[in-house]
Amino acid sequence: MKILVINCGSSSLKFQLIDSESEQVICKGLCERIGIDGSRIVYTPEGKNKITVETPMPDHNKAIELVIEALTNKENGVVSLDEIGAVGHRIVHGGEKFTKSVVINDEVIKAIEDVSDLAPLHNPANLIGIKACQKAMPGVPMVAVFDTAFHQTMPENAYLYGLHYSYYEKYGIRRYGFHGTSHSYVSKRAAEILGKDIKDLKLIVCHLGNGASVSAVKGGKCIDTSMGLTPLEGLIMGTRTGDIDPSVVEFIMKKENLSVAEVNNILNKKSGVFGLSNELSSDFRDLEDGYLNGNEGAKRAVDTFAYRVVKYIGAYTAAMGGVDAICFTAGVGENSGFTRKIIIDGLGFIGASLNEEANTVRGKEEIISNPDSKVTLMVVPTNEELAIARDTYALCK
Ligand code: AMP
Repeated sequence: MKILVINCGSSSLKFQLIDSESEQVICKGLCERIGIDGSRIVYTPEGKNKITVETPMPDHNKAIELVIEALTNKENGVVSLDEIGAVGHRIVHGGEKFTKSVVINDEVIKAIEDVSDLAPLHNPANLIGIKACQKAMPGVPMVAVFDTAFHQTMPENAYLYGLHYSYYEKYGIRRYGFHGTSHSYVSKRAAEILGKDIKDLKLIVCHLGNGASVSAVKGGKCIDTSMGLTPLEGLIMGTRTGDIDPSVVEFIMKKENLSVAEVNNILNKKSGVFGLSNELSSDFRDLEDGYLNGNEGAKRAVDTFAYRVVKYIGAYTAAMGGVDAICFTAGVGENSGFTRKIIIDGLGFIGASLNEEANTVRGKEEIISNPDSKVTLMVVPTNEELAIARDTYALCK
């Protein structure tokens, strides 16, 4: 079966067409600047060069029409419309309602709408993507795969904040966690690579990309994760603060005469390694260059980022009563041996020993610890689209 995977943002839409049997990507692409001047679709059919079409895309319905056109057109198309057997949608927030992927029906759409105030930027865009696909492909089954679902196994003491309990009861304010599809995929893959039953493993997954999170996976279940009610909590990220004292918000508001929305924008868009490096960059490639060339801001940003990762690894080792393997994934985790080394240098306390030669790996599965390391260190590239396609196939075959 050919599965179309859709990841819909407010002004962008990423897609992949995946063959469920071979698990090959038949075509992948991106619609950019939906609803904005200068919109375009960029896609790469398997075995062909990248194709870019600049064309007006006033809304997501038009974007989906163009995706279908790209997949089925005579010249560069890779399928006929009736070959697309199912569509898998990435949904950011499933609240407490969704603990696993589900086939989309009216009730599911209503439930996703109901939790939209927990992810006001993401869930409405995800819903628009679902509705546009339903319109363009009536009768094709669709599946919702939630970023939060994998983390729903966290125990109460990990997901509750030290807030008055009534806020949890009234509004569902608690830790939910994100990147769940990635944490789930990487932990399962790590167990396969290690040749062990995941039920017997204590794993820490470090998803280090532009957004970054850590999770503790014990016996295949998530028992804690660093992101919270929203993806702002936890690690220092590209432009997001991660953990800070909540009083900082009021303090900055008063000092700089800013609104809540303005401070929120600072915490989400002007902070993280971008802010710490005095706006040198949010991209670790630039920061790495800066670090090596003696740029103080770059050094400050990367060292502070790495220290926070080490702290979480320490906390999750305690939470699980030990750790068998630590997995690095996503843009930085998969590609930056430089940043991995700075993190791993802080893990002597659990007997982690880095194989520097193996640590030069980029974007490939690799064990990067020495044989005598007390904890296995590994690079496991994530593949959220494949995980979504697998769930979609399992529910629609
Ligand atoms: P992601 O959000 O997972 O796509 O990760 C994106 C981030 O990965 C970029 O902003 C870069 O900081 C980082 N990244 C990608 N490739 C490299 C690389 N070769 N070396 C260091 N960092 C990289």
